[in-house]
Amino acid sequence: MEKKIIALVAHDRKKTDIVMWANFNRGKLSRCRLVGTGNTAKLIKEKTGMEVEEMLSGPQGGDAQIAARVAQGSVDAVIFLRDPLGKHPHDPDINMLMRVCDVHNVPLATNLAAADLIITAFAVE
Ligand code: PGA
Repeated sequence: MEKKIIALVAHDRKKTDIVMWANFNRGKLSRCRLVGTGNTAKLIKEKTGMEVEEMLSGPQGGDAQIAARVAQGSVDAVIFLRDPLGKHPHDPDINMLMRVCDVHNVPLATNLAAADLIITAFAVE
């Protein structure tokens, strides 16, 4: 079976959560290909030793790069731990990434509970 491609993005106040989630799901994630925005990818690589393809950092266009991959059909799910309490200079890119997921019917998790459901579903496929 082809490896699922999962995109990982976390805002600064959610970075600890995504590292913890990635570590907890290391077994399931090791059967997937991972891609992430710059700082999220770096941190996951550093803290878990997993391979994550690094895009630009979010504010530099990383979310837009992930959105382009979603639009091309080369991402199977997006785990996007947003900070719902903050304003971000790249809010337009953030909205665009979520819109593109909806346009292309790609599963998008914006919190840990939904991320758990997606990774669990992929693991039983
Ligand atoms: P980062 O980007 O992983 O480079 O911090 C995430 C974001 O802010 O969208």
